[in-house]
Amino acid sequence: MTFDFDLFIIGAGSGGVRAARIAAQHGAKVAVAEEYRVGGTCVIRGCVPKKMLVYGAHFAEDLHEAERFGWDIKGASFNWQRLRDIVQEDVTRLEGLYTQTLNSNHATIFPERATASGPNSVRLASGKEVTAKIILIAVGAWPGIPNIPGAEHGITSNEIFHLDALPKRVVIAGAGYIANEFAGVFHAFGSKVSLITRGNRMLRSYDSEIVDRLVAMTEAKGIDVHFNFPCAAITKLADGSLLLDGGAQGSIETDMLVFAIGRTPKTEGLGLEAAGVELDADAAIIVNDYNQTNVPSIYAVGDVTNRVQLTPVAIREGHAFADTVFGNNPRTIDYNCIPTAVFSSPPIAGVGLTEDEARAKFGESVKVFRSDFRPMKNVVSGRMERSLYKMVTAGAEETVVGLHLIGPDSAEILQAAAVAVKAGLNKQAFDDTVALHPSMAEELVLLK
Ligand code: NDP
Repeated sequence: MTFDFDLFIIGAGSGGVRAARIAAQHGAKVAVAEEYRVGGTCVIRGCVPKKMLVYGAHFAEDLHEAERFGWDIKGASFNWQRLRDIVQEDVTRLEGLYTQTLNSNHATIFPERATASGPNSVRLASGKEVTAKIILIAVGAWPGIPNIPGAEHGITSNEIFHLDALPKRVVIAGAGYIANEFAGVFHAFGSKVSLITRGNRMLRSYDSEIVDRLVAMTEAKGIDVHFNFPCAAITKLADGSLLLDGGAQGSIETDMLVFAIGRTPKTEGLGLEAAGVELDADAAIIVNDYNQTNVPSIYAVGDVTNRVQLTPVAIREGHAFADTVFGNNPRTIDYNCIPTAVFSSPPIAGVGLTEDEARAKFGESVKVFRSDFRPMKNVVSGRMERSLYKMVTAGAEETVVGLHLIGPDSAEILQAAAVAVKAGLNKQAFDDTVALHPSMAEELVLLK
């Protein structure tokens, strides 16, 4: 049988673009369909523009504290529209680079929605039917909206990057990555921020002591945190503000409501049922270790499979898929010890097992080493925030099974230290390493 393409990829995000490039370099004739913008969530309305806003947010505290470092900065003010537009300019630049990657690898780009119409066929929005030996679904995930009256009055992280103006008051619903990151950003830009969570914990996958420190610092900055707030309904008032009904917890009035309650695999209407592809209860595509679905010619990578919703993981999956299917090099991904960070204010970062997870797994042999310190910069500036670094070890050899940090630059510090955890080094290896002084990272080799 002959096909129009060797590989048809639906979705030009991080996973799809990597798969396209590598498959093409292995000699495959590749096509990619993208209904929005090449680059996907991370580049267009996720990690990248979010990180730029986080950089912008840092100036709020830095400018305030500059005086303590000898700088007189008079009349500092913040212009949201300027930052928003500059961020968008860079997003467009990156979109161009991703498009160039596809073009230089001779991938055909269809700038339209595509749906699977069979094990080897795809239907484009224009009505055209295209055949391919292999189909890769890499359409990512989409922000969830709760099924409550008035939910249509809320927005998601997608819209934040395009706001005409910043709200005076904003409520963020959720207790995960996006909620904590944007709480810091909006607060720094001058909005009155409230975080509402349905449960009594934030960021469940992170070490609870680190998260408790984040919550304390969040509240100390003046952000209101409402745990166990069951947002049952939203009403739009005559003046345009929103009233959130929290039942017995009372109500909150706000100018803007952001839902950050997780992201759902974007499989709806993708034709997967017709093609016979199995989904799980959360609508994620079920794949095996080689990213293959139950339909042998259809594969999936990235957030749409709901394994680990992180860009670097999607990229690895896309690469491994292309090597496996087109490079005669079957590869799986090692999901163990993935370092992660929340770009909150201050950021937190972690790798390996939390203290609770380590105790459940290794019992009595677990030891925890802590450094609870005020960074030198905070001492000079008068900021009271303290950092907390935790090393979790297991066994007589004190093998490091987890590292958990909160404090300035913790993501930057953790990436390098994660190599040691991934390599299975023990605490002695950290102790044997001479401290780089003065730095915050040196705390990791000075733990008692
Ligand atoms: P997360 O998965 O981080 O957190 C979802 C939060 O929403 C949880 O706290 C959950 O509460 C809560 N929640 C779920 N359903 C409801 C509901 N119906 N009503 C109220 N609250 C609810 O989701 P995000 O949207 O923040 O981020 C999506 C994904 O994007 C993340 O999982 C992450 O993988 C990725 N991401 C990564 C970033 C990074 O690497 N820095 C940054 C941003 C996003 P509960 O704990 O009670 O279940």
